[in-house]
Amino acid sequence: MDLKDKSLFIQKCFIDGHWLDAESKEIFDVMNPSDQTKVGTMPNCSKKDTVKAIEAAKKSWNNWKKLTGKERSIFIRKWHNLILENIDDLALIMTLENGKPINDSKAEITYASWFTDWFAEEAKRTYGKTIPSTMQGRRIITIKQSVGVCGIITPWNFPAAMITRKVAPALAAGCPVVIKPAGSTPFTATALVELANRAGIPDGVINLISVSEKDVANVGDELCENLNVRKISFTGSTNVGKILMSKTAGTVKRVSMELGGHAPFIVFEDADLDEAVIGAMANKYRNSGQVCVSANRIYVHESIYDEFSNRLAEKSSQLKVADGRTEGSQIGPLITPQAFKKVEEHVEDAVEKGAKILTGGTNDNSGVQFYKPTVLTDINNNMKIYYEETFGPVAPIIKFKNENEVIEMANDTKYGLAGYFYSRDIGKIWRVAEALEYGMVGINAGVISTEVAPFGGIKESGIGREGAEEGIEEYLEIKYLCFDGVEK
Ligand code: NAP
Repeated sequence: MDLKDKSLFIQKCFIDGHWLDAESKEIFDVMNPSDQTKVGTMPNCSKKDTVKAIEAAKKSWNNWKKLTGKERSIFIRKWHNLILENIDDLALIMTLENGKPINDSKAEITYASWFTDWFAEEAKRTYGKTIPSTMQGRRIITIKQSVGVCGIITPWNFPAAMITRKVAPALAAGCPVVIKPAGSTPFTATALVELANRAGIPDGVINLISVSEKDVANVGDELCENLNVRKISFTGSTNVGKILMSKTAGTVKRVSMELGGHAPFIVFEDADLDEAVIGAMANKYRNSGQVCVSANRIYVHESIYDEFSNRLAEKSSQLKVADGRTEGSQIGPLITPQAFKKVEEHVEDAVEKGAKILTGGTNDNSGVQFYKPTVLTDINNNMKIYYEETFGPVAPIIKFKNENEVIEMANDTKYGLAGYFYSRDIGKIWRVAEALEYGMVGINAGVISTEVAPFGGIKESGIGREGAEEGIEEYLEIKYLCFDGVEK
């Protein structure tokens, strides 16, 4: 691997300040989705390794939580600086294991660093309240304290940002963590942990456990059921989120669940069409469409349906599909053969039920897991693509007649993560923004993620918010202190 700092490529787990193998010495392979070559191996950790990591985290908690917010902030700031100093190496590692184009990997590392930047500041601002008492002689205040050991379980589609979006606020609040990164993208995670270690974050405060996909439940169960873990923060599919929620119920853990999405993207007849096409392109094709907030149903008013669809298809057909390391690559591979198969099945099912392919609709000859950017029209609600997350570079376009009808269609899903619409009518903008049942709404904006705004979903898209001032609250408990006998 052509890294400037070769010591950033680490194939071990991290417990109590030490890079280790699994106690069993078992390992599993991590593959490059672009060419199916082996990137490396990782320890296949067991329950026993997980318990060790949890115990190390618990042991570190007392000292870590007793630091002032400003002291913790200094560590997080150092980590932030090291992430940016090593952006090229981190991006290359990410492209090799995840497949995303190198420029997208760099953009993700930058995005990941926004959270270390933001929460280095928020560490200093975990304010409590003073509450006017209703009784003479009493004073009431609240203080905020760290929750305790947090289990952090993250997906492969944003191997860096999903870690910093959770770990930075946890550390800022005073919580130690045990990270379980996705089995297919552990090396971005180990590099990030190494940088945290170099930043001087004390032993035990950050731990990382890796496990193969087939054995993941062993580690997952321990994190969810161990009494010493006080919180699980998970980003991933709704199905796995539900399993984890049921397993944490036995010990009544706090949970943050950032789950799947099925975003509507609505283009009204009064929209700026150029902007809507640009927004749809940016929204749909990032990370080859493997994004939880990516548009899954593009609703276009009947009066502009053909024009919008043709323009989107033309631009989509111009995207460069190639290995993420190739200069100018814009669309990389899908993460696994199964992910590729799902995209293929969704397109075939739609076409069988009447959809038309304007562009794409087949695999790309860059490799067996590459799918061409695809635009489908004449979509209806009998098709799988209409209700299920496709997680690929496929843009299904649906015709609508009026505002009420499209709001009803947009809300007709179990998901509620992000929604988008384009309009220039101020009254309609307010009505639609309020009517969409989603945690986040982009108005004339196709890309909305930022560290300063609360990210999260409603319905089966999750519980809790990440980023913004809300992000740190997920790792804090509120304690109410009642002082009596103040007046004599
Ligand atoms: P996933 O299959 O749910 O996996 C997510 C993480 O959970 C991985 O680390 C996975 O490990 C682990 N996992 C799976 N089963 C587990 C178990 N029984 N116990 C403990 N951990 C377990 O999701 P994914 O395919 O990686 O990611 C795609 C999904 O994430 C999509 O649905 C997407 O919408 C969602 N997502 C949501 C957000 C958000 O902010 N709302 C952001 C990004 C992605 P393995 O890798 O070993 O399977």
